[in-house]
Amino acid sequence: MPRPIQATIHPEALHHNLARARQAAPDARVWAIVKANAYGHGIEHVFEGLRAADGFALLDFEEARRVRALGWRGPILLLEGVFELRDLELCSRLDLWHTVHCNEQIDMLATHKTHAPHRVFLKMNSGMNRLGFTPQRYRAAWTRLNALPQVDEISLMTHFSDADGTRGIAEQMAVFAQVTRDLPGERSLSNSAATLRHPLTSTQASNHPDSFASSDWVRPGVAIYGSSPDFPEHSAQDWDLQPGMTLSSKIIATQELEAGDSVGYGSLFVADKPMRIGVVACGYADGYPRVCPTGTPILVSGTRTRVVGRVSMDMITVDLSAVSAAGIQAGFGSEVTLWGRAANGTMLGIDEVAHSAGTVGYELMCALAARVPVVVAES
Ligand SMILES: *Cc1c(COP(=O)(O)O)cnc(C)c1O
Repeated sequence: MPRPIQATIHPEALHHNLARARQAAPDARVWAIVKANAYGHGIEHVFEGLRAADGFALLDFEEARRVRALGWRGPILLLEGVFELRDLELCSRLDLWHTVHCNEQIDMLATHKTHAPHRVFLKMNSGMNRLGFTPQRYRAAWTRLNALPQVDEISLMTHFSDADGTRGIAEQMAVFAQVTRDLPGERSLSNSAATLRHPLTSTQASNHPDSFASSDWVRPGVAIYGSSPDFPEHSAQDWDLQPGMTLSSKIIATQELEAGDSVGYGSLFVADKPMRIGVVACGYADGYPRVCPTGTPILVSGTRTRVVGRVSMDMITVDLSAVSAAGIQAGFGSEVTLWGRAANGTMLGIDEVAHSAGTVGYELMCALAARVPVVVAES
């Protein structure tokens, strides 16, 4: 028997979450963001669940090729655009749309030989200072691109730095709106947080020319995998998102502790009374964060309890006394849910575990280790 750890992908949940993004931006088309191997879920594993998307957005050619190999003929967008001249050949061959965020990319396009002109997304740096042309240089870039025979349609794009927080998107929206006011082309602005927290429809946008966060193309990533973009302010349940992945394993041993006994490396946890401990086949080499402290929530037989002691490479230890106190007898072979959905339907949000580790759901899902077998749930 293989080691019992497993990740299960839930296509129905992905489908549901995508529909939630659509509901938040009913007039927009939706890019399903599948960079980083679909945020660790596996592009091949999420494809069915997300095929109702209007397009797939990602970063590298290998992943674009895999989406095409799955039979997807619709739009694919490269979010960082091309890295060198010959990438443009691949864009032509695979029919990829690509972001243009710097002059070097326009230089490359100008020397590219292609029969079919390219659809590009011209990116503005509206304040995040990562990728894109500054507001002062944006229109010159647009004019230069527009004059190239290699370029077909130009869409207008920016990315928000604070859509999940108190600063919000207003300043960046105002900059973007002002600079692009009379430029033609579709717009793409919103990530998950902006889509859910600032759900302006295109109808509102036509009344308020400065407000079109949801217009044309939204770009939800983490939300479609069922993680809240602004936890703990809102949980996944608050946003009506369902876990796209369950990480589960089993108890492979139990220990009875006396008061004063400790558990695991560094003896970080010391029992203050007799208690029962379960040893779970999951550790940091599976992608479970080593920094998760005693108290990190975990489900045993669908009952909430806590991690105790230090996470080691292949194992963690959990408090089974709390499970028996809830009237559930758990022991060797019992189901453990690290995050996601237990067999009895109880949920443990990946965001809760991430929060315990001082990070975000994004990082945990992306860090799922290659040694963990992944299965796609039957729908
Ligand atoms: C990753 C990414 C997104 C998706 O962000 P989420 O916070 O996961 O929704 C959207 N747009 C761009 C440009 C990205 O790189």
